[in-house]
Amino acid sequence: MAEEPKETNPGFLNPVAGFGVTFKAMFKKRLTEQYPEQKKTTAPRFHGRHQLNRHPDGLEKCVGCELCAWACPADAIYVEGADNTDEERYSPGERYGRVYQINYARCILCGLCIEACPTRALTMTNEFELADSSRANLIYTKEQLLAGLEEGMVDTPHAIYPGTDEQDYYRGLVTEAAPGTVRQVAVSEGESPEDQEVDA
Ligand code: SF4
Ligand code: SF4
Repeated sequence: MAEEPKETNPGFLNPVAGFGVTFKAMFKKRLTEQYPEQKKTTAPRFHGRHQLNRHPDGLEKCVGCELCAWACPADAIYVEGADNTDEERYSPGERYGRVYQINYARCILCGLCIEACPTRALTMTNEFELADSSRANLIYTKEQLLAGLEEGMVDTPHAIYPGTDEQDYYRGLVTEAAPGTVRQVAVSEGESPEDQEVDA
């Protein structure tokens, strides 16, 4: 017959034993962070908000293939691809991502989508302040996710760099927009040439 374990803790101490943890914590270094007044720098490879990247001339890297959406375990990505034309070009190749949405009410920031992307169009930034009280605001659109314009870039749609093809873009041969490159009229987005003349 197994021996009964001996009781080492006298029963009358039980009600106060839990305070021992509290007492010990009083002498430990405080870990309180003064967020949002003081924001902590994240680790360089922290998984934050996504970004849709551009080529150095401003054309978009996304080809609308939907691989990111298929890889997502939370079904948080919605993509609709469309064909480029010479009059309205968003990416160097045949297709581009016309509609792109990420639902941050679903996203668990796991990064599987960026691993699936064949063109490195999709990466993650260090931005972590994504909370919102509205579900609708948590659905980020392509316009919100698309990287900003840097020096040497022209906003899409615009023509491919003359004398190059899609492969040249991925070989890094295009380093800025060709001289004289101008934004084309986004007819598929409801713009008309007259609108652009008024803006100019
Ligand atoms: S980070 Fe993960 S959950 Fe979020 S969109 Fe990408 S694959 Fe889906
Ligand atoms: S982000 Fe990448 S994987 Fe997703 S549709 Fe665009 S090219 Fe394809």
